[in-house]
Amino acid sequence: MHPDLPKLLDVQGKDRHLSEVSARRDELAAERAALDAALETARQQIAQAERAATDAAARRDAREAKLEAQRGLQEKRRARLEQERNPRVAAQLMADVEMARSILAQEESDWMRVAEEATQREQAVALATERLEALTAEQAEARESLVGREAEAEAAWSAAKAARDEAAAGLPKPLRTRYDRLHGSRHSEVLVPAVNATCTACYTSIPSSRIGQLQADSILLEGCEMCGAILYLEEVPA
Ligand SMILES: [Zn+2]
Repeated sequence: MHPDLPKLLDVQGKDRHLSEVSARRDELAAERAALDAALETARQQIAQAERAATDAAARRDAREAKLEAQRGLQEKRRARLEQERNPRVAAQLMADVEMARSILAQEESDWMRVAEEATQREQAVALATERLEALTAEQAEARESLVGREAEAEAAWSAAKAARDEAAAGLPKPLRTRYDRLHGSRHSEVLVPAVNATCTACYTSIPSSRIGQLQADSILLEGCEMCGAILYLEEVPA
């Protein structure tokens, strides 16, 4: 057996483990992202409610100012009416006061409607804020457990990476470079068993000129002609 074969298989096994712990790390990152996204949505709902409340308050205040101005005018009309001695002018002023009163009544009812809406918008902000607080409290436990699981996954990843790098350091440099390049570019594994003189990754036959070398070394470092996988012979149980 070629001395590099067990080393290569060892690196490959450690890479397999490393990719498993990496997947675990990714899962936890997705879990954290989902918690963050839920909070972000709740924050956006508050911001949206706040904008609507600000707009409603501005409409209410504008109505109120207009109403106040009209009330002032009506007061002046009444004052003039009290002073007026000419019956014809007084009758006209009286008609004006009556007309203004019905307009004012309508304006007051509009103002109450707008003021009610502003109150409801403020309540919506309070509700949205409560929802965010509830969600934050609800997430506390999940986040706490997540911190622990993240720390475990991170430690597992660091250990797997260190073990992998140590194993890879035992390979001759050119072979290590080649392995790493193949590992980065292939979807399947770098070392693939040859069965019945065929690559088990792409099912291309190994040329007869190379079979002798495969049998002698248990490994064909040049790799499969078709897919580039490094081929090896698995130990056949006696
Ligand atoms: Zn192949």
